[in-house]
Amino acid sequence: INPRRTPLIAGNWKMNLDHLQAIAFVQKLAWNLKDAGHDTAAVEVAVFPPFTDLRSVQTLISADKLPLAFGAQDVSAHDSGAYTGEISGAFLAQLECQYVIIGHSERRTLHNESDEQVASKVTAALKHNLVPLICVGESAEDLAVHGPSAVPVAQLRAALAGVTNAVDIVVAYEPVWAIGSGQAATPEQAEQVAAALRGVLSDTLGQDVADKTRILYGGSVKSTNIAAYMREPNVDGALVGGASLDIAEFSSIIRYQK
Ligand code: PGA
Repeated sequence: INPRRTPLIAGNWKMNLDHLQAIAFVQKLAWNLKDAGHDTAAVEVAVFPPFTDLRSVQTLISADKLPLAFGAQDVSAHDSGAYTGEISGAFLAQLECQYVIIGHSERRTLHNESDEQVASKVTAALKHNLVPLICVGESAEDLAVHGPSAVPVAQLRAALAGVTNAVDIVVAYEPVWAIGSGQAATPEQAEQVAAALRGVLSDTLGQDVADKTRILYGGSVKSTNIAAYMREPNVDGALVGGASLDIAEFSSIIRYQK
């Protein structure tokens, strides 16, 4: 890993844990990390609860000064108005969210989110000083037809269409075929795509931003495979779904160096 980039281990809870469960979970996770002497300067940890949990998680993290960042799983492209069911980036910023996941494959497939919508959401997040965690990744069919990097590269280019100056962003490469399947990409596959994505960052935002931006791998990450990804030069962390809901397992992933 490049010394300019702090590794990030991010837990995407998806639609799991209500706000009461979230409070218990975050408390236990923080105790667990404290007991293990976790150094947040060495590895940053972020959780992404459902919207209805955010206020509780914010209160807990800020009151107890827990060593955790948090964010939302989606954001509206709009600031306010007649958008029933949507959540504005302004509201997330007001709740002290630092990050927001944008373009997760479940949003792209189940909610037909287009590259254009993803780009608008990225712009909206940045406008409200939220760090967009932009997800890209190919389906098994894309992989067979277009090869390993073509689709994620095109998705990242599209997502950055409205971004002009150097900003804080995070990119997650999540092959759709690896999400929740137990069939993780190999570290070599993850590295190959991460390197191509860093090339896109360099082309569009410049080498300095490309060097500073964290690129995560996601898709069936576990305590048994995390260390191998982290050895790759262009992989700076992980976006963890299922395994982020098990405190012992998620803590082991965070302590991948041990
Ligand atoms: P998984 O999910 O770790 O359960 O494969 C990853 C994700 O969807 O972000």
